[in-house]
Amino acid sequence: MKFVTTRGQAREYSFEEALFSPGYMSDGGLLMPKTIPQISSDLLKSWSTLSLPQLCKEILPLFIDEEEISRGDLGAVIDKAYSRLPVESVAALSSFQDGLNVLEMGNTKTLAFKDLSTFVMARLLDYFFKKREEHVTIVVGTSGDTGPSSIEAVRGSQWMDIVVLFPKGYCTQVQELQMTTVLDDNVHVFAGEGSSDDIDVPVKAVCLDQDFKSLHNLCTMNSINMSRVLCQVTGYFYGYLKVCQNIGDEVEIVVPTGAAGHVTGGCIAYHMGLPIKLVCAVNSNDFIHRMLTTGELARAPEVIKTHSVAMDIQNPYNMERIFSLFSNRDTALVKKVMDEYESGVKTTLPATLLQKMQTVLSSASYGDDVIVKTMQRCWHDHRYLICPHTAVAVSYYFSKLDRMAPNQTPHQTTVCFSSAHPAKFPEALLAAGLEPKPTPYINNLHTMPTHYTEMKQGQNWEKMLRDRIIEIGKRNGIGQ
Ligand SMILES: *Cc1c(COP(=O)(O)O)cnc(C)c1O
Repeated sequence: MKFVTTRGQAREYSFEEALFSPGYMSDGGLLMPKTIPQISSDLLKSWSTLSLPQLCKEILPLFIDEEEISRGDLGAVIDKAYSRLPVESVAALSSFQDGLNVLEMGNTKTLAFKDLSTFVMARLLDYFFKKREEHVTIVVGTSGDTGPSSIEAVRGSQWMDIVVLFPKGYCTQVQELQMTTVLDDNVHVFAGEGSSDDIDVPVKAVCLDQDFKSLHNLCTMNSINMSRVLCQVTGYFYGYLKVCQNIGDEVEIVVPTGAAGHVTGGCIAYHMGLPIKLVCAVNSNDFIHRMLTTGELARAPEVIKTHSVAMDIQNPYNMERIFSLFSNRDTALVKKVMDEYESGVKTTLPATLLQKMQTVLSSASYGDDVIVKTMQRCWHDHRYLICPHTAVAVSYYFSKLDRMAPNQTPHQTTVCFSSAHPAKFPEALLAAGLEPKPTPYINNLHTMPTHYTEMKQGQNWEKMLRDRIIEIGKRNGIGQ
């Protein structure tokens, strides 16, 4: 399997190169697998009793050549990553009388589903670095959960340093503490005075500087990195197999999404042959919803701060991967659309592409008022606490229920993906009049010392980021 960019650059990349890449390629595009492996319904049936890590061991190898990493070594890498996660409670399914199904992927180490991909990615990086005996610096811009998850995945590693930028005041207190209380030498945290889209600017500038990137072996753990998205494909197969009555039946999966990384995993699963429909559930930052209903790519003037902070994104950069999949890899089309969009011109998706996307993808957008009500209703009806991100997805299910006649339940099976643990978002629970139940892990965060650097308005953030990377390089014998 080779990897190619969405915008038509001729070069092909190995998995190792895709893993190491800083995400944005020199033509501005993102990497995708060159072909999408097809899963027969017999193979799908044979997977029906597998655990999440077992499924991961079936799916990841479809995208990685044996010459790059043997099946045995890849299996060991996946086992190592999952050994740090509570496998029984990760991806547990909660089903209720009203037909609500929730696949809980937030019962992880940092209490967000991102651990399922960052932990695997970190162990893969570790595997390849050890072989090369090289040092790598990971650069991450985060709107909330990617930072804590990547830091946890990488801390203490001899071969990796990680630099994380987060928008101060936009993350929750728990998320900030999860980043700033890590004192390991290989962890560097910056708090920027801006939104998560502001944070992406210096990260993108540094990652697009090819000479700097290759001198310092830069790579990212955001979902611009292809390996993150590939790891997330597993959850869709697992969720499908858990809820469907007969394999082959169509299942509707509701995905709380922000940068569209989460839902891109679902689009890949669909193109592999999984019979699913996908609902992109977004908060008031509704770019994706507007795009899927009108075909227009239009950024709102600013990011709206909501309870579901990890989805407070107005630039869903993974969308070009979705365009690529649904246009049957029409790189000229993707390049034209993205060039237009990035130059600030009013951009509309070609009608044929939009129609193709709409056969699989739909969307819904909910404000904090609805999200709060959904959290209350889940508690009231089911004694079930959900986080504000999960509530965006569940809001869709409730609105579907409410449109039906009393005592009727939908004929189609729907599963909502839960992306984080409710204990991580006490502010949102309190706003809903619910009682947060902090875990011991969260209680501990409040008593630990913190360490981070501020990026203030007016300072040169790109230079600050470069300087830190240069300093890390010096410690590791680079650039002398
Ligand atoms: C990251 C995140 C999302 C959205 O994922 P995208 O890849 O941005 O679509 C949703 N919920 C939670 C809790 C997250 O941390």
